[in-house]
Amino acid sequence: MRSVPDYFGCLVFNDKVMKAKLPTEVYESLKKTREEGVRLDSSVASVVADAMKDWAVANGATHFTHWFQPLTGITAEKHDSFIAPTDDGGVIMEFSGKELIQGEPDASSFPSGGLRATFEARGYTAWDPTSFAFIKDKTLCIPTAFCAYNGEALDKKTPLLRSMAALNKQALRILKLFGNKEVKSVHTNVGPEQEYFLISKEMYEQRPDLKFTGRTLFGAKPPKGQEMDDHYFGAIKPKVAAFMAELNEELWKLGVLAKTEHNEVAPAQHELAPIFTTTNIATDHNQLTMEIMQKVAAKHGLVCLLHEKPFAGVNGSGKHNNWSMATNTGINLLAPGATPYENAQFLLFLCAVIKAVDDYQDLLRISVATAGNDHRLGANEAPPAVVSMFLGDELTEVLEAIETGNPYKGAAKTQLKLGVDVLPKFNRDTTDRNRTSPFAFTGNKFEFRMLGSSNSIACANIMLNAAVAESLKIYADRLEGVADFETALHEMIKKTIKDHKRIIFNGNGYDEAWIKEATEQRGLCNYRTTPDCIPHVLDKKNVDMLVGHKVFTETELKSRCEIQLENYCKTVVIEANTMVNMAKTLIAPAVEAYAADVAKAVAAKRLVDANLPCKYESKLIKNLSALTDRIASCIEELEMALQELHEAKDVVDEANAIRDNVLEKMNALRIACDEAELLTAKKYWPFPTYSDLLFGVK
Ligand code: ADP
Ligand code: MG
Repeated sequence: MRSVPDYFGCLVFNDKVMKAKLPTEVYESLKKTREEGVRLDSSVASVVADAMKDWAVANGATHFTHWFQPLTGITAEKHDSFIAPTDDGGVIMEFSGKELIQGEPDASSFPSGGLRATFEARGYTAWDPTSFAFIKDKTLCIPTAFCAYNGEALDKKTPLLRSMAALNKQALRILKLFGNKEVKSVHTNVGPEQEYFLISKEMYEQRPDLKFTGRTLFGAKPPKGQEMDDHYFGAIKPKVAAFMAELNEELWKLGVLAKTEHNEVAPAQHELAPIFTTTNIATDHNQLTMEIMQKVAAKHGLVCLLHEKPFAGVNGSGKHNNWSMATNTGINLLAPGATPYENAQFLLFLCAVIKAVDDYQDLLRISVATAGNDHRLGANEAPPAVVSMFLGDELTEVLEAIETGNPYKGAAKTQLKLGVDVLPKFNRDTTDRNRTSPFAFTGNKFEFRMLGSSNSIACANIMLNAAVAESLKIYADRLEGVADFETALHEMIKKTIKDHKRIIFNGNGYDEAWIKEATEQRGLCNYRTTPDCIPHVLDKKNVDMLVGHKVFTETELKSRCEIQLENYCKTVVIEANTMVNMAKTLIAPAVEAYAADVAKAVAAKRLVDANLPCKYESKLIKNLSALTDRIASCIEELEMALQELHEAKDVVDEANAIRDNVLEKMNALRIACDEAELLTAKKYWPFPTYSDLLFGVK
């Protein structure tokens, strides 16, 4: 068997391959594009295309595709083969620079939120040379951005790249002020930790709710859940281990730095974390990881559930977005330095994040809002819907010392202007204790913990990058050209701490008392649901900021707002319809059949002795009958609630009606059906139960 270093990245047209296959000047030119964002020359593109095709064909590829991330949340691809006919009736394999740089998928069926009139439904895809091409299923996949013909973004990659460019621009201004001349670019790094569930494919196939919605809509709590804490970090079962081994291998071939794997808190729940990398690559890799997880699972007779809340009563799945800023020279701008000057720089970048998270807490909340994630946030298994930041006691004390002008007791030497001489080393142990915070400083990076497991990480990082770019811009505007840089810097850091310390909270984020304090005393936003938060993306301050940094146009924001709400509505309506269908055609008939058989048993017994009391049976039949009646009326009420949605005047109205009415009716139906499950003999129950699903993989 080949060793990992031998096959790692073997399906990627990466730097090593480019260096080997491209003429030096083409390689250098492409490298400049990748590293410094210099525009790609079209003559370079055709040489690259040729080399890429030869490499791909040699590695078994027959097709190519522009691989993109439309607003559906998953990736899309349309395959074209490389073949071109020759005069003698044969074919050759062809791929031009133009085909590499731009594609034209018929995009009329992708969500556009009214951006694109259907008569001009064609969008175009444009190569993102900062993310490597790779081979998947004999197809050369070219990571691309997806836009309408007027340039409006129809995908998640375009705004992500724009947000990275915005942050780069402003961070460079700041670094210049600190006398840093050799740095050419600043990028953000992300390491997303991905949670997921693995269940048996055979059982999955028997559950319409899982097949249509990715989560269970019914299911009584099993006798055992996660209360024993015996699954977390527990021994990995052989079937799961085999899945993980193959998953790693497939990901490594694709150059994904899969690193850590372990069991998570809930039974059947697991996690995979890669080593961090540049944000847009991390985003592509996370999309690939989610896709490959499902493919590999199928090969092992399993299904990988990426839904945020596949099972009620046990933890759902999230995605921790570990985020930092780094220079092209390899300096992490969120790592405390060794000299006071480096520390001042660190504190400034830290403050930029504090200010960003406070000023744009609503955008961060919006960036993770989906119907699925609404089940997790604030449910004592994930951070609350209120955004706050954990800095740890040490760093909080440093900031307090700066704000008040009192000496920081941890600093051994005399105080400099900034109030801290040499910062203590914030090692993980002191910074990572609090797992309940939505946004935690963990030594040299921030961990944004509100993302749902199925979310594309693009959305969160777009908002984060843009918000931090805005803080940095405000700082740079103020500091450029001042006579006394140190004093101005000190004052600005002090002001940031004073103005934004309300966002810092080191306590238990799951505590009800915190939510009260956060909203009532600190004035932080608490948008509990998707319909509550989404419309705020169009608040003036948000539009001004995002448009100001050219991350979105106002039209793009309006279309995204609409799509996110539509998505919410469609998701819940599909769930509700699935429930009605399952309750009518599977659950009610099963309960009926059981009750009828019990009644038959009573009749049979009474043939033996007409006076037998049959108390147990009678009571059971009455209870079952009461439940079927209740189920029937719950179905009617849910159907009525769904019917009323047709009266909604717009998508905001519809989403609100779903939040206020449909979800409640779904819940009532579920409760009745779950009670019925507990009363019905197992052999009558029409699909696998929670016990079967959660403990079924050996
Ligand atoms: P934990 O579960 O304790 O949070 P993990 O090791 O599972 O830790 O995940 C930590 C993630 O953070 C990994 O993906 C890791 O690569 C990433 N990470 C580490 N340093 C940085 C950094 N400077 N910037 C961004 N991500 C980072
Ligand atoms: Mg983590």
